[in-house]
Amino acid sequence: MKISELKLHSIAIADPPLRSSYGLHAPWALRTIVELETDDGIRGVSETYGGEEPRAALEAIRNRLMGMDPFLLTGLLRDMSRDADALTEGNTSVPGGRSQTWLVPGENPLDQTTRTFAAVEIACLDIIGKAAGRPVCDILGGRVRDRVPFSAYLFYKHAGGGGNSDYPDEYGEVLTPDAVVRECRQMVRQYGFREIKVKGGVLEPAIEIESIRTLRSEFGPEMPLRIDPNCAWSSDTSVHVAESLREELSGGGYLEDPCPGLDGMAEVRRRLLDCDIQTPLASNVAVTCLADVPRARQLDAVQIVLSDPHYWGGLRQVQLLSHLCSVLGMGLSMHSNSHLGVSLMAMAHVAAASPNLTFACDTHYPWQTERDEIVAGGRIQFENGCVPIPDRPGLGVELDYDQLARGRERYEKIAFRKRDDEAEMRKHVDPGWKRILPRW
Ligand SMILES: [Mg+2]
Repeated sequence: MKISELKLHSIAIADPPLRSSYGLHAPWALRTIVELETDDGIRGVSETYGGEEPRAALEAIRNRLMGMDPFLLTGLLRDMSRDADALTEGNTSVPGGRSQTWLVPGENPLDQTTRTFAAVEIACLDIIGKAAGRPVCDILGGRVRDRVPFSAYLFYKHAGGGGNSDYPDEYGEVLTPDAVVRECRQMVRQYGFREIKVKGGVLEPAIEIESIRTLRSEFGPEMPLRIDPNCAWSSDTSVHVAESLREELSGGGYLEDPCPGLDGMAEVRRRLLDCDIQTPLASNVAVTCLADVPRARQLDAVQIVLSDPHYWGGLRQVQLLSHLCSVLGMGLSMHSNSHLGVSLMAMAHVAAASPNLTFACDTHYPWQTERDEIVAGGRIQFENGCVPIPDRPGLGVELDYDQLARGRERYEKIAFRKRDDEAEMRKHVDPGWKRILPRW
């Protein structure tokens, strides 16, 4: 079995005006759908970051992929990493290095190799699953759970549904604690989520503290709560928020990337332990690759790592991370970006085959719509907040080519080619807005 074709589809999907410390989501999120076909007619699919750069990076390895045995992934990653090391050696021009302090996931040139490899690996695992007649999680060594829990991912947002004005605004404006509770009630009713995440770093910390408290009194301690301000807070503010939410973030909750960098998070952790506050700190910003994990552990800066197959280098790297975290006594959760059903299933399969996944995964899926889904048969259905692993071979999804064509048309029509939340913020909310860390 050899790879005989690579097809790349750049698509745009509507994205509501969600806020974070990076700024504002644009009306469109960009994705690239990758199709690999083998000489015996098996087609594998994956979904990755959109725009010109991820596509060009995949084009650049087209010749290497043609004729490749889709089973031989280890050698491909070794070769791609070797080439990348040679190119990026001594590259200190990226602010924050490999961290996501300044660059959103998908934009950091230093993890381009693992992002590009992941897009190929996932499509190859889909092929291998189809060839073997088994779901991808079983190809990864076997599932340890049949249903993968996801969390409600709440955002502060402005009014609007994203895309053209004819996309419905399902959740309305959400800029107060009461509106966050309304958003959560609606999302939990529809999807059945049992854990709650709030994207913070947007409003005054006192309002965000109030949001978490209001959620706790509405949903009770059986729904663990986490808040992620994406480094918007100083060490002092991080400690203040953790002290204020000592009770609310306990019992399966966590505080995610409150301030920038491992040293800052280590300081916050020390000060919290001094006050006997055990709230764990989680990160997808300061810890973005396997090499970051030992130092994060050594400093006790991070107790929970957020994996993400899209930039950690695919499903098998996430399994490695799961094992490493287990050995080091750390917890594991999963990060997400705006995505459709192919990514959701890739995330679900690796989560099913990662024993140490100790928290419900993040997903932006509720923020996208049926209208833009490119998976045949429509949106993936959640059951009680979980994605059930289907018995079908591979990822268990096929592409709807009419929907894919509509996604490509949208991409061709719009001017966006790169995510820039700061520019969107200036355009729609505040002409003088700049991302400042720490803001509070
Ligand atoms: Mg995060």
